[in-house]
Amino acid sequence: MFLRALTAAFALCLAPSAQAQDVPEVETTDLGDGVYMLATHVAGNVAVITGEDGVWMIDTQMGHIAPALDEAQKAVSDGADVRLVLNTHLHGDHVLGNAYFAERGALIMAHASVRERLMNPSPSAVTGTTPEPLSGGFLPVIGIPGDSEITLNGHTARIHYTPDAHTDGDLWVHFVEADVIHAGDLLFSGMYPFIDLDNGGTVDGMIAGMQAIAGAAGPDTRIIPGHGGLSTREDVLASIAMLTAARDAVAALAAEGHSLDAVQAANPLAPFHDDWNWRFITTDRMTAILYRDATR
Ligand SMILES: [Zn+2]
Ligand SMILES: [Zn+2]
Repeated sequence: MFLRALTAAFALCLAPSAQAQDVPEVETTDLGDGVYMLATHVAGNVAVITGEDGVWMIDTQMGHIAPALDEAQKAVSDGADVRLVLNTHLHGDHVLGNAYFAERGALIMAHASVRERLMNPSPSAVTGTTPEPLSGGFLPVIGIPGDSEITLNGHTARIHYTPDAHTDGDLWVHFVEADVIHAGDLLFSGMYPFIDLDNGGTVDGMIAGMQAIAGAAGPDTRIIPGHGGLSTREDVLASIAMLTAARDAVAALAAEGHSLDAVQAANPLAPFHDDWNWRFITTDRMTAILYRDATR
């Protein structure tokens, strides 16, 4: 059920006109110091940072879920409205709740490339669809050009930009004192990652992004992944090891001149299948992403 729901979220994220879905339950995890993780398992995980400066939300899932997210954050913020939103990147399952919060006074920020990409979306070779252009309250109004830092609610939040990774506009946030990282979709914890080659993503950039997160994390750091459960540095290192080995295996066959069909038939990712395969990024689809990245 979890995987089916998550696949539906990705289908929705890439084609936001899909039919309305049930509103999932929002799970709230208290990470201390006013920091919370909100998860529904059908869209990108959310962080909420509460305190006297106002509520900061990282990612907004989707429009039909936003009221439930708002209710969950109000339960831990004395009923405050969200004041600031950061989108980790452009995908629909992270930004389609923006307008709900913008209408209630939130300022939306994201990497400087995201606004233009939301207004003029690229077709996806993975799903065969093109997301609908967004406008108005969906669009970020503050463009963050690169590494940055915000001091809010007593937290030092280091915002890191990783170029050409999951997309070309990925930010991840390190709350230094709370020892919490929101990784955005640089981490699909325990599952093959989606690497959006149609929006500037690259396999090497994805690995570099995870390496940067692992480098900033300590053994006790709580890491909120874009998808999957609350994670640790060990989970990031496991993802790096898998993706590096998978990249090398597919690239070696591609360098020998084999076609994608032949590489998928040879199935060099077989050792990873049982642990990492899931409905949206199957072993075949992961192989295709790695092959396309290696041969372009
Ligand atoms: Zn996502
Ligand atoms: Zn994404």
